[in-house]
Amino acid sequence: MSRNDTLFARSQTHIPGGVNSPVRAFRSVGGTPRFFERGVGAHVWDADGKRYIDYIGSWGPLILGHAHPDIVEAVCATARSGMSYGAPTEREAEMAETLCRLVPSLEMVRLTSSGTEATMSTVRLARGFTGRNRIVKFEGCYHGHSDSLLVKAGSGMLTFGHPDSAGVPAELAAHTLVLQYNDIEGVKRVFAEMGDTIAAIIVEPVVGNMNLVAPEPGFLETLREVCTKHGSVLIFDEVMTGFRVALGGAQALYGVKPDLSTFGKVVGGGMPLAVFGGRADIMKHLAPLGPVYQAGTLSGNPVAVAAGLAQLKHLEKPGFHAALTATTRALVDGVVAAAKGAGITFSGQSVGGMFGFYFSAAIPKSYPEVMSADRERFNRFFHHMLDAGIYLAPSAFEAGFVSAAHTEQDVAETVAAARKAFATLA
Ligand SMILES: *Cc1c(COP(=O)(O)O)cnc(C)c1O
Repeated sequence: MSRNDTLFARSQTHIPGGVNSPVRAFRSVGGTPRFFERGVGAHVWDADGKRYIDYIGSWGPLILGHAHPDIVEAVCATARSGMSYGAPTEREAEMAETLCRLVPSLEMVRLTSSGTEATMSTVRLARGFTGRNRIVKFEGCYHGHSDSLLVKAGSGMLTFGHPDSAGVPAELAAHTLVLQYNDIEGVKRVFAEMGDTIAAIIVEPVVGNMNLVAPEPGFLETLREVCTKHGSVLIFDEVMTGFRVALGGAQALYGVKPDLSTFGKVVGGGMPLAVFGGRADIMKHLAPLGPVYQAGTLSGNPVAVAAGLAQLKHLEKPGFHAALTATTRALVDGVVAAAKGAGITFSGQSVGGMFGFYFSAAIPKSYPEVMSADRERFNRFFHHMLDAGIYLAPSAFEAGFVSAAHTEQDVAETVAAARKAFATLA
């Protein structure tokens, strides 16, 4: 029996499903999750000592790869002088200045410990600022697991949301309208009808939580237009895209400025750190300046902030994102060509250091299109790749991530493994 199996069996006794976040349990693809013991650069080693090329990177944070020496050093040096004070530190000011310099829409920021807290706080802030309750989200976008955002579409055109989890009150979910991503006309229709009652739109400017879905030309611009016209707050959830699709995030890449945005994952360099921020006139509604309450014992944790700053320094080097984008594109081109060679229906795309592989002929533009891909075929592909030492996300509905540590050799190995996997699927 493999040690992964033993550890999984042991973990399930005292941890629901054996994992601390559901997708890690491999339920969608079947089989035993790998328990990791070590990561260096683009590679991870599991409990049996097997090596993998890692395309998850802790679900996005590790844009420099595992255990980057500068980040490890920043963490150790900072920890030696104290893990946490629950009081302000100079590093938090430095982090806030750095973020406001790098991201176009940021004038003020607040630090939190998770992306969920950041998005939850922006929704409360938007409601407090506008005095309205309704929010708009898009099916397939994930914004963390707070009640107002764990909502799915109901039936019909004007979709008042339904709880997407037991335990979310229907009364609360009803304040969330769920529309289709890239549906420009749907957005216009809802705002024409009830725009003046909508506190905010929250959106992933590039979606990475229903595989990878990119915005169609005009979609983000339309969101900006209707929010400006109706006095609603436009929130870009850049927890995944921030510092990954471009240094200034998707808002820099597409040239659309939100009122508020959220960051996580990359911003903490692998430590628990997230951010929300934006227009100063809105941010000044937060306590202690204003009436919207928000807080956190470990918010702005010195070790996490030091790790984040150490990572961001590397991303500011000229050419960083151009190189990351080129590596990611080479990976996608190679795997798509391998599928074509084997006659498999398959497509792929990347935005910066994020990529999507689809077992469908066309690249999907919305949730129903993503769901129409051949899931069973993905699962077989996933397990072939895993056996070959390629660690992809264990679900057909997650994006993949490349780091600066991935080399041409890693990409070549991955493409070779994909060629073999596709041959068995044909
Ligand atoms: C990961 C993610 C979140 C949630 O962040 P956590 O740190 O897991 O709470 C929110 N929004 C998006 C777009 C994400 O990808």
